[in-house]
Amino acid sequence: MFKSIQTKIVTIFILVILSVVTVIGTFMTTNIVKLYNDEFSVMMEQVFTPALVSELEKSAENGSYDGIWDIISSYIGPLGIDTYRFYSILDAKTGNILCTSDETKSVNMEKSDNIILAMTGKTGNTVNTQKAYMDYAVPIGTDDDTRYIVYVKDTKDEINSITRNVLFILIEALLASVLISILLGFFFGRTITKPIRDLTKSTEHIASGKFDIVSNIKSNDEIGILSDTFNYMSSALQHTVNEMNSEKNKVETILQNMTDGILAFNLSGRLIHINPEAKRLIGRNFYDDLQFDTFFKEVGADISMGNIIYIKQTNKIERETVIGGKVIRFTFAPFNLENKISGIIVMVHDITNQQRLENARREFVANVSHELRTPLTTVKSYAETLMDMPPDDKDIQNRFLATIAAEADRMTRIVKDLLTLSRLDEGQYQMKPFERVNLSELVSDIVEKMFFAAKEKHQELSLSAKKTPVYVMTDRDKLEQVIINIVSNAIKYTHENGKIEISIEKVYKDAYIKVRDNGIGIPKENLPRIFERFYRVDNARSRETGGTGLGLAIAKQIMNQLGGNIVINSTYGEGTDVIISVPL
Ligand code: ADP
Repeated sequence: MFKSIQTKIVTIFILVILSVVTVIGTFMTTNIVKLYNDEFSVMMEQVFTPALVSELEKSAENGSYDGIWDIISSYIGPLGIDTYRFYSILDAKTGNILCTSDETKSVNMEKSDNIILAMTGKTGNTVNTQKAYMDYAVPIGTDDDTRYIVYVKDTKDEINSITRNVLFILIEALLASVLISILLGFFFGRTITKPIRDLTKSTEHIASGKFDIVSNIKSNDEIGILSDTFNYMSSALQHTVNEMNSEKNKVETILQNMTDGILAFNLSGRLIHINPEAKRLIGRNFYDDLQFDTFFKEVGADISMGNIIYIKQTNKIERETVIGGKVIRFTFAPFNLENKISGIIVMVHDITNQQRLENARREFVANVSHELRTPLTTVKSYAETLMDMPPDDKDIQNRFLATIAAEADRMTRIVKDLLTLSRLDEGQYQMKPFERVNLSELVSDIVEKMFFAAKEKHQELSLSAKKTPVYVMTDRDKLEQVIINIVSNAIKYTHENGKIEISIEKVYKDAYIKVRDNGIGIPKENLPRIFERFYRVDNARSRETGGTGLGLAIAKQIMNQLGGNIVINSTYGEGTDVIISVPL
């Protein structure tokens, strides 16, 4: 009930009209009645003057009331006698009617207060508006000898009918007013509720994010001001929301495109954000109800929210774990909102490569130390033996000194190779300006140089080249160094009487030098690591042959810098193919 403002306004209008009409009605009726009473009283006073009373008394002295009757009858006009008002002459002793102007109304007439007062010799002129009639009683005669009472009575029927008419008019006016109030209330209500409804609609649009709908109420009253303020608020809000959205988009874009993974958890441990990189690194389905403690337990990182939030840590809190073959590092930090810890941000890094490099670095240092320690131990022990030896045993002394020299050479080679690699790594390995090199000629020279080394092992070293020479633009010395290394490996790792074939091909924009041997070959599992520094298939054999384990690594690096490549195919126990490609 009274849900709308319009109904409320209509109700208020009706209530106001009702109260106004009731007040007016009551006021009017009571005043009309009072006025009527007063007028009756004044009329009686004006008629029954002491002169008239003494005249009436005189006329009654003969013991009859006829004289009184005649005199009163001549006052019908001033007394206002009509159908509702009549007069009588009463016996002053008994109060009984002696004669009356209206027989019907006089039947069973009660002895009113005024009659009783007149019977005691006093004029009965008390007015009681509550009574259903008005009356006036005048005693005729002396105090001790009151014989008659002149009695005038008004039945109030006239005033009652007037009051009734007034009431009817008021009720009609009331009904008309109620109708008008309903119409006015509805109309006025509409002038208020319509703009409110419009504003409500606009507010709903704003709530659903449509800021372009404005309120267009044009008026100078409070509602007009409210509408203007609303439009201002709407545009200010739109501005703020736009700014917030653009900030949000910025952050979203940064998070989406970050190369680091990001996870965010709220204080109850629930996942509230995850970026694509984190999803990729962790590689699992993420659910909205994912919990911090459960998740990190699942991925094997020993940490709980309490560790981060409640234990004050000055250092970064980090955990590393292996997920899907990748080494993942989680870095945890609480984040604040309004100066209160509100959750935890977790950065996710794939440190597999970093770890691999770290391991390679450690391995490299260990390898270098190991490679140098072996010849150093030999040199030291030979030198000590020499010191303890009798000086005349020249033969053994020379043999020992030769070994020491060989080990020193070996160390020199290792250090030289390491320096070369280090320069290659740092890009300081000076290349000469590229020159036009006849590849067939270059390889043929190398075959000639290596001929004796092969001959020592009774190996057959052959070159099959096309008749037309193949030319490449390259650094001749560097390419020669690479080919020599590959051919000398072929000689080293091929048994006596083995065969080494070198061929030159030209395909499209590249020249290929293939060095094929039928030597010991390389097991399949060792092939992927063959270009690593100090990596050897058989350490003992390599050292025996004076190898440093750095040759292939250097060759690969040089070929990369020359814009070419080296590929090794090998079958263990059958032989090896090394293919060097050089851009023409
Ligand atoms: P090294 O100085 O030991 O020869 P390299 O880097 O030249 O070092 O070669 C690395 C390893 O590759 C060698 O120790 C050897 O085990 C293997 N290797 C290289 N070339 C051949 C080949 N032609 N036949 C068999 N194994 C080879």
